[in-house]
Amino acid sequence: MDFRLTDEQKMVQDMARNFAEKEIAPYVDQDEENHYYRREILTKMGDLGLLGWSLPEEYGGNGMGWMEAVLALYEIAKVHTSWRLSISGNCWGPAMTIDEWGTEEKKQKYIPGLVSGESVGSFAITEANSGSDVASMRTFAADMGDHWLINGSKMWISGGHTADVGLLYAVTEKGKGPRGLSCFIVDYNNTPGITRVPIHIKVGMWTAPTSELVFENAVVPKENLLGPLNQGFPICMWQLNNTRMGCATGAAALSAACLEGAVQYANERTQFGKPIGKYQMIQAQLAEMKLEDEAAKYLVYHAAWLKDNNLPNQQATSMAKLFGCNAAVHAANMAMKIYGSYGYSTEYPCGRWLRDAKQFETLEGTSNIHMQIIANIELGYQPNR
Ligand SMILES: Cc1cc2nc3c(=O)[nH]c(=O)nc-3n(C[C@H](O)[C@H](O)[C@H](O)COP(=O)(O)OP(=O)(O)OC[C@H]3O[C@@H](n4cnc5c(N)ncnc54)[C@H](O)[C@@H]3O)c2cc1C
Repeated sequence: MDFRLTDEQKMVQDMARNFAEKEIAPYVDQDEENHYYRREILTKMGDLGLLGWSLPEEYGGNGMGWMEAVLALYEIAKVHTSWRLSISGNCWGPAMTIDEWGTEEKKQKYIPGLVSGESVGSFAITEANSGSDVASMRTFAADMGDHWLINGSKMWISGGHTADVGLLYAVTEKGKGPRGLSCFIVDYNNTPGITRVPIHIKVGMWTAPTSELVFENAVVPKENLLGPLNQGFPICMWQLNNTRMGCATGAAALSAACLEGAVQYANERTQFGKPIGKYQMIQAQLAEMKLEDEAAKYLVYHAAWLKDNNLPNQQATSMAKLFGCNAAVHAANMAMKIYGSYGYSTEYPCGRWLRDAKQFETLEGTSNIHMQIIANIELGYQPNR
């Protein structure tokens, strides 16, 4: 087992770190304060190839795999976790799913724009009354012969009102549960009947837009069905097993940011005549953070390695996501304690870290759902895909 990164992987890591420091870091405070989504960052990510992981070069893919992707996403998320969503929202969500399930025509039509950053992507699964229980969704796509007529609504959709294109999961056969769902590609700029409402009440992730989508007789072309009819559930689970890597990596990166900040503060802050880092209790807190941070990172690397080698990885992905979110929440909590009162002020990023860390416990499968996946695979109740 070789834990060293290749020269190419180190290059990707450096490139993403430089990008995050130069193009994202200068705007973090200002954009957080204004809850502002800086669209041009996505374009720049596309220009650098940061949206083209594991996708064929003929559609603009960067020729690199999961390991390189998680190294890059980690550097970006460490600076500002909101921006990790763009890799899931463009690459691992719509582009990769279209590449797996789409016709040649669809691949040529949609993937290049998502990879270059010309298009903003999204994926819409959740509804107001359908979260963990995906198969209970109500949004209905009626087959009208030459088109689909969509009615219903989606909730908590990342990039929902900024997206140009997105995946939409809807019921195509009522009463069939998971066997009655299908996946569609929606062109948000050219589909009348869709109202997109920004959600401004989020606790964190303030620079990443989130929305409610309302479909009222929205007409979607017949050919925009992605994959076979009524196969939306397996497509959705396949997609989530990819996009969850964004949460897993983002959470590990956030835990690293908290640790780095806390270490620096513990070396600088003096009480009772010594830097607080000299006190055993602070050291114990930092040791716990370091242990969890390192474990979270290697769980991500392991899941990425399995994916790159086409080996079963669902359990590894869920473990990386679950452990990462626990590490991130714990680290953010510890960081705020170590920074003392300054941690509770807006002068330091502890508040943002804590707010942003909490998202990981909910989206792309809550912690309970990931515990179920891990245990069900372990018990042999479901295959490890
Ligand atoms: C910032 C943000 C961005 C998001 N982006 C997207 C997006 O881009 N696209 C999208 O489709 N969705 C998105 N979501 C939605 C997210 O994926 C859902 O919120 C998530 O799946 C949980 O659903 P829920 O909120 O309805 O919780 P519920 O499913 O109602 O769960 C509530 C609680 O009950 C528990 N629970 C539920 N079922 C069980 C069970 N069987 N056993 C044990 N415990 C259970 C859960 O663990 C949780 O603690 C986003 C959410 C947020 C906050």
